[in-house]
Amino acid sequence: MSAEPQPARAPATLAVSLGRPHVPGAAVSPPIEVTSVYRPDAAGSPLYGRERNATWEALEEVLGGLEGGRAVAFSAGVAAINAVLARVPVGGTVVAPDDAYTGTRANLDALSDRGLLTARMVDITDAAAVATACDGADLLWIESPTNPLLRVADIAALAAAARRRGVLVAVDNTFATPLGQRPLAAGADVVVHSVTKFLSGHADVILGAAVTSDNALADAFVTHRTLTGSIPGPVEAWLALRGIRSLPARFARAQTSAGLLAERLAAHPGVERVRYPGLASHPHHDLATRVLDGFGAMISFDVAGGAAGADALCGAVSLAVHTTSLGGVETTLERRAAQPLDAYLPEGLVRLSVGCEDVEDLWTDLSQALAAAMSAGRSRR
Ligand SMILES: *Cc1c(COP(=O)(O)O)cnc(C)c1O
Repeated sequence: MSAEPQPARAPATLAVSLGRPHVPGAAVSPPIEVTSVYRPDAAGSPLYGRERNATWEALEEVLGGLEGGRAVAFSAGVAAINAVLARVPVGGTVVAPDDAYTGTRANLDALSDRGLLTARMVDITDAAAVATACDGADLLWIESPTNPLLRVADIAALAAAARRRGVLVAVDNTFATPLGQRPLAAGADVVVHSVTKFLSGHADVILGAAVTSDNALADAFVTHRTLTGSIPGPVEAWLALRGIRSLPARFARAQTSAGLLAERLAAHPGVERVRYPGLASHPHHDLATRVLDGFGAMISFDVAGGAAGADALCGAVSLAVHTTSLGGVETTLERRAAQPLDAYLPEGLVRLSVGCEDVEDLWTDLSQALAAAMSAGRSRR
């Protein structure tokens, strides 16, 4: 260890340099630690692999560094969500976005069906409504930008209002990633990630994380993980670690492509509406410009012709992959209202996750698929 103070390093550097042993002779890429038990050491470290694993710790060091807190890795994003919801006392109240990620809403529904909590669903962009809903609540759950409507919340303002009322604040930062916004610095208590998405980035792993700068809360997450067994596999943790190294490069490229595609989609006659925070037409564009560092790689757009038009588009792409999920190097798209819990969405809304392919190839694919959807619509009439 050098006594020199470390310079403050940029996220792109932290993603590459953290989570590696910096000692002579050590492997530059940390090994996948495949073991269920450890031999006792002098420090009395846990012996069982449900309690610790060096590959998780390497990933946690990177993610913690990027978010500015202590990260606890989980087997899935929904496992991290449940670890946070487990902090709510029985009979407590959670305030959450009415357009939150389907899995978040499904978990809130399941817990309230069992009488364990009450969920107050709000428009997360309505600061006054959120503040009122926080009266007497235990947890404010923020997601921003939301999946898939891409609404943008003012995390600093909402967190301040919640904290004045003694309400714990969690932010699902899956869409923006720590490169787009750092909720802990904006006053949130916890950041949650579906590491499955942009952080891992290659559609080959399911993993989650919760990050906090409150040590007691981080300890509680670790205890929850150990008790519930919601632990990442060492191989999954390693894949996520490998993926996160290139997050800054992948995300920058995907984001640039998304900005271009959003503009072209908005000008296309086969598209009725584009939701992308980077467009001046987005209702929260000014806020997004202020609170986000870049507008992300997710676009939602309403295809002319509703469900039939969107289905025709999704069936006609040949480069983009018609499937669920997001955040990979592969561009994916799907009609979200086809999912039962997302039936509230506009029928023709297509959620597009922009990947790392050449942007002109992507546009060629999307515009031929839009043309196919338009001509299918003409023959239906
Ligand atoms: C996918 C997703 C999750 C859930 O993560 P899993 O890794 O699939 O369990 C949570 N929040 C958002 C915004 C997501 O898109």
